[in-house]
Amino acid sequence: MSAPDLSRFPRRTYSSGPTPLERLEHFSRELASQCPEGQGPEVWVKRDDQLGLFPGGNKTRKLEFLAADALIDGADTLITCGAPQSNHCRITLSAAIREGLRCRFVIEERVPGSYREDASGNHFLFRLMGVEKITVVPAGSDMAAAMQKEADELRDLGRKGYVIPGGGSNAIGGLGYVACAGELQQQMVAAKLSFDAIVVGSGSSGTHGGLLAGLLAHGMQVPLYGIGVSRDPQDQAPLVEKEALSVLALLGLEETIPQGRLRCVGGYWQPKYSLPNEAMIEAVRWLARSEGLLLDPVYTGKIMAGLIGLARHGEWSAGQRVLFIHTGGMPALFEYQDVL
Ligand SMILES: *Cc1c(COP(=O)(O)O)cnc(C)c1O
Repeated sequence: MSAPDLSRFPRRTYSSGPTPLERLEHFSRELASQCPEGQGPEVWVKRDDQLGLFPGGNKTRKLEFLAADALIDGADTLITCGAPQSNHCRITLSAAIREGLRCRFVIEERVPGSYREDASGNHFLFRLMGVEKITVVPAGSDMAAAMQKEADELRDLGRKGYVIPGGGSNAIGGLGYVACAGELQQQMVAAKLSFDAIVVGSGSSGTHGGLLAGLLAHGMQVPLYGIGVSRDPQDQAPLVEKEALSVLALLGLEETIPQGRLRCVGGYWQPKYSLPNEAMIEAVRWLARSEGLLLDPVYTGKIMAGLIGLARHGEWSAGQRVLFIHTGGMPALFEYQDVL
Protein backbone atom coordinates (compact mmCIF):
# COMPACT_ATOMS: atom_id res chain seq x y z
CA MET A 1 0.00 0.00 0.00
CA SER A 2 1.34 3.46 -0.83
CA ALA A 3 1.60 6.09 1.89
CA PRO A 4 -1.68 7.81 2.76
CA ASP A 5 -2.02 11.41 1.59
CA LEU A 6 -2.49 13.63 4.63
CA SER A 7 -2.10 16.86 2.68
CA ARG A 8 -5.84 17.07 2.03
CA PHE A 9 -6.48 17.47 5.77
CA PRO A 10 -6.09 20.96 7.24
CA ARG A 11 -3.21 20.99 9.68
CA ARG A 12 -1.35 23.44 11.88
CA THR A 13 2.31 22.85 12.73
CA TYR A 14 3.35 22.88 16.38
CA SER A 15 6.67 20.99 16.27
CA SER A 16 9.86 21.89 14.48
CA GLY A 17 10.64 18.46 13.07
CA PRO A 18 10.59 14.70 13.69
CA THR A 19 10.99 13.68 17.32
CA PRO A 20 14.33 11.96 18.05
CA LEU A 21 14.87 8.21 18.27
CA GLU A 22 17.25 7.37 21.12
CA ARG A 23 18.78 4.10 22.27
CA LEU A 24 18.54 3.43 26.01
CA GLU A 25 21.86 1.70 26.46
CA HIS A 26 22.20 1.56 30.24
CA PHE A 27 18.57 0.68 30.83
CA SER A 28 18.63 -2.07 28.18
CA ARG A 29 21.68 -3.68 29.77
CA GLU A 30 20.13 -3.60 33.25
CA LEU A 31 16.80 -4.91 31.95
CA ALA A 32 18.46 -7.78 30.05
CA SER A 33 20.08 -9.01 33.25
CA GLN A 34 16.55 -9.58 34.62
CA CYS A 35 15.19 -11.33 31.51
CA PRO A 36 15.21 -15.11 30.94
CA GLU A 37 18.82 -16.30 30.55
CA GLY A 38 20.02 -12.72 30.97
CA GLN A 39 19.01 -11.97 27.38
CA GLY A 40 16.75 -9.03 26.69
CA PRO A 41 15.83 -6.59 23.94
CA GLU A 42 17.51 -3.33 23.03
CA VAL A 43 15.08 -0.61 24.10
CA TRP A 44 14.75 2.60 22.11
CA VAL A 45 12.55 5.61 22.76
CA LYS A 46 10.78 7.97 20.37
CA ARG A 47 10.78 11.31 22.11
CA ASP A 48 7.21 12.46 21.58
CA ASP A 49 7.64 14.18 24.94
CA GLN A 50 9.70 16.70 22.91
CA LEU A 51 6.85 17.66 20.60
CA GLY A 52 5.89 21.32 20.46
CA LEU A 53 3.52 23.32 22.72
CA PHE A 54 6.02 22.87 25.51
CA PRO A 55 5.99 20.71 27.44
CA GLY A 56 4.48 18.78 24.57
CA GLY A 57 3.27 15.24 24.29
CA ASN A 58 1.11 12.96 22.19
CA LYS A 59 -1.78 15.44 22.30
CA THR A 60 0.34 17.92 20.33
CA ARG A 61 0.12 15.69 17.25
CA LYS A 62 -3.65 15.39 17.55
CA LEU A 63 -4.12 19.12 18.11
CA GLU A 64 -2.37 19.95 14.84
CA PHE A 65 -5.39 18.51 13.02
CA LEU A 66 -8.08 19.38 15.59
CA ALA A 67 -7.15 23.06 15.97
CA ALA A 68 -6.99 23.41 12.18
CA ASP A 69 -10.50 22.01 11.96
CA ALA A 70 -11.70 24.39 14.69
CA LEU A 71 -10.30 27.37 12.79
CA ILE A 72 -12.06 26.30 9.59
CA ASP A 73 -15.22 25.95 11.65
CA GLY A 74 -14.91 29.61 12.68
CA ALA A 75 -14.62 28.79 16.39
CA ASP A 76 -13.32 31.35 18.89
CA THR A 77 -13.04 28.89 21.80
CA LEU A 78 -11.80 25.31 22.24
CA ILE A 79 -13.80 23.23 24.71
CA THR A 80 -12.41 19.96 25.98
CA CYS A 81 -12.42 17.64 28.99
CA GLY A 82 -10.11 15.52 31.11
CA ALA A 83 -9.04 14.50 34.59
CA PRO A 84 -7.74 17.06 37.15
CA GLN A 85 -4.10 16.66 35.98
CA SER A 86 -4.96 16.32 32.28
CA ASN A 87 -2.04 16.71 29.88
CA HIS A 88 -4.57 16.86 27.08
CA CYS A 89 -6.26 19.92 28.63
CA ARG A 90 -2.89 21.65 29.08
CA ILE A 91 -1.84 21.07 25.47
CA THR A 92 -5.27 22.06 24.12
CA LEU A 93 -4.97 25.31 26.07
CA SER A 94 -1.49 25.92 24.63
CA ALA A 95 -2.79 25.32 21.11
CA ALA A 96 -5.72 27.69 21.75
CA ILE A 97 -3.35 30.42 22.89
CA ARG A 98 -1.13 29.86 19.86
CA GLU A 99 -4.16 30.30 17.60
CA GLY A 100 -5.59 33.31 19.43
CA LEU A 101 -8.55 31.30 20.70
CA ARG A 102 -9.98 30.99 24.17
CA CYS A 103 -10.30 27.69 26.01
CA ARG A 104 -12.67 26.02 28.50
CA PHE A 105 -12.41 22.69 30.31
CA VAL A 106 -14.84 20.28 31.87
CA ILE A 107 -12.84 18.37 34.49
CA GLU A 108 -14.05 14.94 35.60
CA GLU A 109 -13.14 14.23 39.19
CA ARG A 110 -12.45 10.54 38.44
CA VAL A 111 -10.97 9.95 41.87
CA PRO A 112 -13.39 11.66 44.32
CA GLY A 113 -11.77 14.54 46.18
CA SER A 114 -8.81 14.72 43.77
CA TYR A 115 -9.60 18.16 42.34
CA ARG A 116 -7.86 20.92 44.26
CA GLU A 117 -7.90 24.59 43.31
CA ASP A 118 -4.34 24.99 44.58
CA ALA A 119 -2.91 21.86 42.89
CA SER A 120 0.48 22.00 41.21
CA GLY A 121 1.52 20.25 37.97
CA ASN A 122 -0.81 20.71 35.02
CA HIS A 123 -3.45 22.40 37.13
CA PHE A 124 -1.05 25.19 37.97
CA LEU A 125 -0.33 25.58 34.25
CA PHE A 126 -4.06 25.82 33.43
CA ARG A 127 -4.24 28.87 35.66
CA LEU A 128 -0.93 30.34 34.57
CA MET A 129 -1.90 30.13 30.89
CA GLY A 130 -5.28 31.69 31.61
CA VAL A 131 -7.94 29.08 30.95
CA GLU A 132 -11.24 30.95 30.61
CA LYS A 133 -13.39 28.57 32.64
CA ILE A 134 -13.12 25.21 34.43
CA THR A 135 -16.28 23.27 35.25
CA VAL A 136 -15.75 20.32 37.60
CA VAL A 137 -18.15 17.37 37.37
CA PRO A 138 -18.29 14.08 39.34
CA ALA A 139 -16.90 10.76 38.08
CA GLY A 140 -19.14 9.06 35.55
CA SER A 141 -20.74 12.28 34.29
CA ASP A 142 -21.80 12.56 30.66
CA MET A 143 -18.78 14.52 29.43
CA ALA A 144 -20.14 15.09 25.92
CA ALA A 145 -23.30 16.64 27.40
CA ALA A 146 -21.30 18.79 29.81
CA MET A 147 -19.14 20.12 26.96
CA GLN A 148 -22.19 20.76 24.80
CA LYS A 149 -23.59 22.86 27.65
CA GLU A 150 -20.46 25.04 27.43
CA ALA A 151 -20.89 25.32 23.67
CA ASP A 152 -24.55 26.34 24.13
CA GLU A 153 -23.55 28.96 26.68
CA LEU A 154 -21.03 30.42 24.24
CA ARG A 155 -23.60 30.44 21.44
CA ASP A 156 -25.99 32.45 23.65
CA LEU A 157 -23.14 34.94 24.11
CA GLY A 158 -22.75 35.25 20.34
CA ARG A 159 -19.53 33.21 20.40
CA LYS A 160 -18.59 29.86 18.93
CA GLY A 161 -17.11 26.86 20.72
CA TYR A 162 -15.44 23.83 19.14
CA VAL A 163 -15.78 20.66 21.19
CA ILE A 164 -12.79 18.31 21.33
CA PRO A 165 -13.50 14.91 22.93
CA GLY A 166 -11.42 13.62 25.85
CA GLY A 167 -7.81 13.00 24.82
CA GLY A 168 -8.54 14.50 21.39
CA SER A 169 -9.45 10.96 20.38
CA ASN A 170 -11.64 10.98 17.33
CA ALA A 171 -10.88 10.33 13.68
CA ILE A 172 -9.41 13.82 13.08
CA GLY A 173 -7.19 13.66 16.18
CA GLY A 174 -6.05 10.15 15.24
CA LEU A 175 -4.54 11.57 12.04
CA GLY A 176 -1.76 12.90 14.25
CA TYR A 177 -0.57 9.34 14.86
CA VAL A 178 -0.97 8.38 11.21
CA ALA A 179 1.50 11.20 10.61
CA CYS A 180 3.70 9.76 13.37
CA ALA A 181 3.79 6.36 11.64
CA GLY A 182 4.93 8.04 8.42
CA GLU A 183 7.56 10.04 10.27
CA LEU A 184 8.85 6.88 11.96
CA GLN A 185 8.97 4.99 8.66
CA GLN A 186 11.12 7.74 7.12
CA GLN A 187 13.44 7.77 10.15
CA MET A 188 13.85 4.00 9.99
CA VAL A 189 14.70 4.07 6.30
CA ALA A 190 17.13 6.97 6.74
CA ALA A 191 18.90 5.32 9.70
CA LYS A 192 18.65 1.76 8.24
CA LEU A 193 17.00 0.79 11.50
CA SER A 194 14.25 -1.72 12.12
CA PHE A 195 12.12 -2.43 15.19
CA ASP A 196 10.64 -5.72 16.33
CA ALA A 197 7.97 -4.11 18.48
CA ILE A 198 6.48 -0.73 19.37
CA VAL A 199 5.08 -0.10 22.85
CA VAL A 200 2.62 2.75 23.36
CA GLY A 201 0.05 3.83 25.95
CA SER A 202 -3.63 3.14 25.48
CA GLY A 203 -6.03 5.46 27.27
CA SER A 204 -8.69 7.39 25.36
CA SER A 205 -7.19 5.35 22.48
CA GLY A 206 -6.46 8.02 19.87
CA THR A 207 -2.75 7.33 20.10
CA HIS A 208 -2.91 3.54 20.02
CA GLY A 209 -5.75 3.46 17.47
CA GLY A 210 -4.28 6.25 15.34
CA LEU A 211 -0.85 4.63 15.32
CA LEU A 212 -2.33 1.23 14.44
CA ALA A 213 -4.21 2.82 11.55
CA GLY A 214 -1.00 4.60 10.56
CA LEU A 215 1.08 1.41 10.57
CA LEU A 216 -1.54 -0.38 8.48
CA ALA A 217 -1.86 2.56 6.08
CA HIS A 218 1.91 2.68 5.62
CA GLY A 219 2.23 -1.08 5.20
CA MET A 220 4.41 -1.37 8.31
CA GLN A 221 4.39 -4.87 9.82
CA VAL A 222 5.95 -4.10 13.21
CA PRO A 223 3.80 -5.40 16.11
CA LEU A 224 2.22 -2.65 18.23
CA TYR A 225 1.53 -3.23 21.94
CA GLY A 226 -0.90 -0.88 23.68
CA ILE A 227 -0.45 -0.81 27.45
CA GLY A 228 -3.72 0.11 29.15
CA VAL A 229 -3.67 3.02 31.59
CA SER A 230 -7.29 2.71 32.69
CA ARG A 231 -8.77 -0.52 31.29
CA ASP A 232 -7.90 -4.17 30.75
CA PRO A 233 -7.99 -5.60 27.20
CA GLN A 234 -11.59 -6.76 27.12
CA ASP A 235 -12.75 -3.17 27.68
CA GLN A 236 -9.92 -1.37 25.91
CA ALA A 237 -9.66 -3.33 22.64
CA PRO A 238 -13.13 -2.34 21.36
CA LEU A 239 -12.30 1.36 21.90
CA VAL A 240 -8.99 1.05 20.05
CA GLU A 241 -10.62 -0.88 17.22
CA LYS A 242 -13.34 1.76 16.85
CA GLU A 243 -10.74 4.54 16.80
CA ALA A 244 -8.51 2.76 14.26
CA LEU A 245 -11.47 1.99 12.00
CA SER A 246 -12.74 5.56 12.09
CA VAL A 247 -9.27 6.87 11.21
CA LEU A 248 -8.96 4.38 8.33
CA ALA A 249 -12.42 5.42 7.10
CA LEU A 250 -11.42 9.09 7.18
CA LEU A 251 -8.36 8.16 5.10
CA GLY A 252 -10.62 6.32 2.69
CA LEU A 253 -8.80 3.04 3.27
CA GLU A 254 -9.85 -0.54 3.85
CA GLU A 255 -11.98 -0.87 6.95
CA THR A 256 -10.70 -4.01 8.57
CA ILE A 257 -7.96 -4.70 11.07
CA PRO A 258 -6.06 -7.87 10.24
CA GLN A 259 -6.21 -10.67 12.80
CA GLY A 260 -3.61 -10.27 15.53
CA ARG A 261 -2.63 -6.66 14.79
CA LEU A 262 -4.62 -5.19 17.70
CA ARG A 263 -2.78 -6.03 20.93
CA CYS A 264 -3.90 -4.64 24.27
CA VAL A 265 -1.98 -5.36 27.45
CA GLY A 266 -3.64 -5.08 30.86
CA GLY A 267 -2.56 -5.45 34.45
CA TYR A 268 -0.30 -2.41 34.81
CA TRP A 269 -2.78 0.40 35.52
CA GLN A 270 -4.38 -0.92 38.69
CA PRO A 271 -5.57 -0.03 41.31
CA LYS A 272 -7.16 2.76 39.25
CA TYR A 273 -6.40 5.33 36.57
CA SER A 274 -3.85 7.87 37.89
CA LEU A 275 -3.28 6.11 41.23
CA PRO A 276 0.30 4.91 41.86
CA ASN A 277 1.43 1.28 41.97
CA GLU A 278 4.80 -0.34 42.75
CA ALA A 279 5.66 -1.19 39.15
CA MET A 280 5.11 2.45 38.07
CA ILE A 281 7.32 3.73 40.88
CA GLU A 282 10.06 1.26 39.90
CA ALA A 283 9.84 2.30 36.22
CA VAL A 284 9.90 6.05 36.91
CA ARG A 285 12.92 5.75 39.23
CA TRP A 286 14.74 3.27 36.97
CA LEU A 287 14.55 5.41 33.83
CA ALA A 288 15.39 8.57 35.76
CA ARG A 289 18.49 6.98 37.30
CA SER A 290 19.75 4.90 34.37
CA GLU A 291 19.06 7.34 31.53
CA GLY A 292 18.01 10.70 32.99
CA LEU A 293 14.73 10.08 31.17
CA LEU A 294 11.73 11.48 33.02
CA LEU A 295 8.51 9.50 32.88
CA ASP A 296 5.24 10.46 34.58
CA PRO A 297 3.21 8.62 37.23
CA VAL A 298 -0.16 8.55 35.40
CA TYR A 299 0.82 7.36 31.92
CA THR A 300 4.39 6.72 30.82
CA GLY A 301 5.47 5.24 34.19
CA LYS A 302 2.77 2.57 33.94
CA ILE A 303 3.36 2.09 30.20
CA MET A 304 7.09 1.51 30.78
CA ALA A 305 6.16 -0.83 33.64
CA GLY A 306 4.27 -2.80 31.00
CA LEU A 307 7.32 -2.94 28.72
CA ILE A 308 9.48 -4.08 31.66
CA GLY A 309 6.94 -6.74 32.62
CA LEU A 310 6.69 -8.11 29.08
CA ALA A 311 10.49 -8.19 28.77
CA ARG A 312 10.91 -10.04 32.09
CA HIS A 313 8.41 -12.61 30.87
CA GLY A 314 10.56 -13.24 27.82
CA GLU A 315 8.39 -11.53 25.21
CA TRP A 316 11.48 -10.45 23.24
CA SER A 317 14.80 -12.12 22.61
CA ALA A 318 18.32 -10.71 22.63
CA GLY A 319 19.08 -8.58 19.62
CA GLN A 320 15.46 -7.56 19.12
CA ARG A 321 14.71 -3.85 19.20
CA VAL A 322 11.71 -2.46 21.04
CA LEU A 323 10.58 1.13 20.54
CA PHE A 324 8.88 2.88 23.44
CA ILE A 325 6.80 5.90 22.44
CA HIS A 326 7.34 8.51 25.16
CA THR A 327 4.00 10.32 25.08
CA GLY A 328 4.92 13.10 27.53
CA GLY A 329 3.18 14.01 30.77
CA MET A 330 6.11 15.42 32.71
CA PRO A 331 4.22 18.21 34.58
CA ALA A 332 2.18 15.60 36.51
CA LEU A 333 5.45 14.30 37.99
CA PHE A 334 5.51 17.27 40.33
CA GLU A 335 2.14 16.35 41.83
CA TYR A 336 3.49 12.95 42.95
CA GLN A 337 6.64 13.89 44.83
CA ASP A 338 5.46 12.12 47.97
CA VAL A 339 5.17 8.69 46.29
CA LEU A 340 8.36 8.98 44.23
C1 LIG B 1 -3.20 11.10 27.03
C2 LIG B 1 -1.91 10.45 27.30
C3 LIG B 1 -1.67 9.10 26.95
C4 LIG B 1 -2.73 8.21 26.38
O1 LIG B 1 -3.07 8.57 25.06
P1 LIG B 1 -4.53 8.33 24.50
O2 LIG B 1 -4.50 8.83 23.13
O3 LIG B 1 -5.49 9.06 25.40
O4 LIG B 1 -4.80 6.86 24.56
C5 LIG B 1 -0.41 8.57 27.16
N1 LIG B 1 0.57 9.31 27.73
C6 LIG B 1 0.38 10.59 28.10
C7 LIG B 1 1.49 11.31 28.75
C8 LIG B 1 -0.87 11.20 27.90
O5 LIG B 1 -1.04 12.47 28.30
